[in-house]
Amino acid sequence: MNLELHRCFRCGWCKYPSGFEDYNCPSYARFRFESHSPGGRLWLIKAWLDKEIEWSDHLSEILFSCVACKNCVENCKMDFRDEILDWIISAKSKAIENGLAPPKVRDFLENILKYGNPWGLPRNKEASWIKELERYKDQEFLLYLGCECRYEERGARMAKNVVEVLKKAGISFGVLDDETCDGNEALMLGERGLFEELASKNLQKFRELGVKRIVTISPHAYNAMKKYAEGKFEVLHFTQLFSELLRKRKLSLSELEFKVTYHDPCFLGRHNGIYEDPRKILKSVPGLKLVEMKRNRENAFCCGGGSGNFVFDFLSGPSSPARLRIKEALGTGAEILVVVCPICKAMLEDVIKEEGRIEVKDIAEIVLISAK
Ligand code: SF4
Ligand code: SF4
Repeated sequence: MNLELHRCFRCGWCKYPSGFEDYNCPSYARFRFESHSPGGRLWLIKAWLDKEIEWSDHLSEILFSCVACKNCVENCKMDFRDEILDWIISAKSKAIENGLAPPKVRDFLENILKYGNPWGLPRNKEASWIKELERYKDQEFLLYLGCECRYEERGARMAKNVVEVLKKAGISFGVLDDETCDGNEALMLGERGLFEELASKNLQKFRELGVKRIVTISPHAYNAMKKYAEGKFEVLHFTQLFSELLRKRKLSLSELEFKVTYHDPCFLGRHNGIYEDPRKILKSVPGLKLVEMKRNRENAFCCGGGSGNFVFDFLSGPSSPARLRIKEALGTGAEILVVVCPICKAMLEDVIKEEGRIEVKDIAEIVLISAK
């Protein structure tokens, strides 16, 4: 890897692909140090592997402030671009193996291993309404909720909205009695062993229950399950299912006169190429006006929550990615910023108190309001 890393010549294209104010790497946008840019990070990794610099808390913070948004991969012009994120993940992996990861990262991974969620919460802290949902037996879909929707208040609200839409459309679905973490963040942090353990538990459970179609709420869960369940089970993100339900006229929507903008989550967009289904849903609502932010689709700016940062929050501060994204959304004149990821929802809602003047709503809530 050391030799390959040298092929990045720090041209900086990945840092500001469309102009010198377009800082597209969330950690570079937050800190504005070359060391926190994709190229700077790669050179620091090389220097560490070549033993030219010692490991330090500062280096650790730089490495783990990469949120795996994949924007550098999208914008680098060199033929090694697809390997950039893998190099960063391999360096995180080496740091974890050698006991060098920041304590917050260690706790995050240990909590997933011991408690099945990154906060280390006991099962009785799950949103109480989940108990009332039908358990999966032989329904058409297994609805995979994920940690953020089971334990985090904003994610739980989003999951409840998705559940209500599925019921309105007459979809038969069930949830797991005892869900295992999808493992996406373990994978992005380079904890391949933990990821494989979680993947194998999930696959075993899906096989035992005879699952055929899985619908996920979080794009992070979608990304993980596409990696290990693809070809064995059909995996859909809920926006793909909603878009199909609207096409088949299983949902009828009435007029809503809102001006909205849409935030592409990295794990649905750049990681999986799904840009149009959420937009098709919004365009199906009569009267709803969709305006795009300057950075959208492949070039969308990340909320800063990936690779476990929704828990560690290494990028918090006055120019955190979430705050920058809210400012960008405000610039469109939209009244509502629409999200389709529980992590984006929590990250963006957290800063709305400071930035204000726009509401964050998940797309299922928009569909529900319009379907009444
Ligand atoms: S990763 Fe690619 S675009 Fe970024 S500095 Fe290196 S060579 Fe340039
Ligand atoms: S994946 Fe995102 S956060 Fe990480 S270096 Fe690339 S642009 Fe920056």
